[in-house]
Amino acid sequence: MIDAILPPFLAKLPTGTYTPCHNRPELFIVSHRNVPARQHATEAKALCQACPIRAACLDHAIRTSETDGIWGGLTPKERSAQQRPDCGTEPGWRSHLARGESCLTCREAHDERLRADRRARLDLEHQEHGGSLAGYRLELLLGLPTCVRCRAVRQEYYAGRPRTGKWYRRSSVAA
Ligand code: SF4
Ligand SMILES: [Zn+2]
Ligand SMILES: [Zn+2]
Repeated sequence: MIDAILPPFLAKLPTGTYTPCHNRPELFIVSHRNVPARQHATEAKALCQACPIRAACLDHAIRTSETDGIWGGLTPKERSAQQRPDCGTEPGWRSHLARGESCLTCREAHDERLRADRRARLDLEHQEHGGSLAGYRLELLLGLPTCVRCRAVRQEYYAGRPRTGKWYRRSSVAA
């Protein structure tokens, strides 16, 4: 944190009291544009450990999504790790994917949402079209028996299409 940014919680400090970062702002500036020497970050973190308002400082930085500087003893990366979405939610699932992690809770919740979404789309297909190709595929994806109406649409669709895949043989016979 630097003195140029004065978050409201600093006003709670008793008059004449200063935070440990007060005189050393250069130690607390961290960003992808201005990465401090590692020892600066270490020193800043040590100062934060002794700060009487450390928890409030960290809370402020997380609530305001502060992307620069060391606040409450944590770097932006460390703060973002603390802000990770809850397991079982779609953002939680995506966050694991981005990090190449595996999480059973998130995977099961994601699969359940996917299934519910497919189920809803299938219901819509049946309501709006009676039966459809999309409905047929959704039934297969859901592991359900395909319905008469969707099967009929599929059969009709493929019956009206020319057979494919043999053209190369015709040309070789002609040669
Ligand atoms: S926790 Fe660290 S950055 Fe926050 S006010 Fe205290 S010394 Fe400054
Ligand atoms: Zn998870
Ligand atoms: Zn169907």
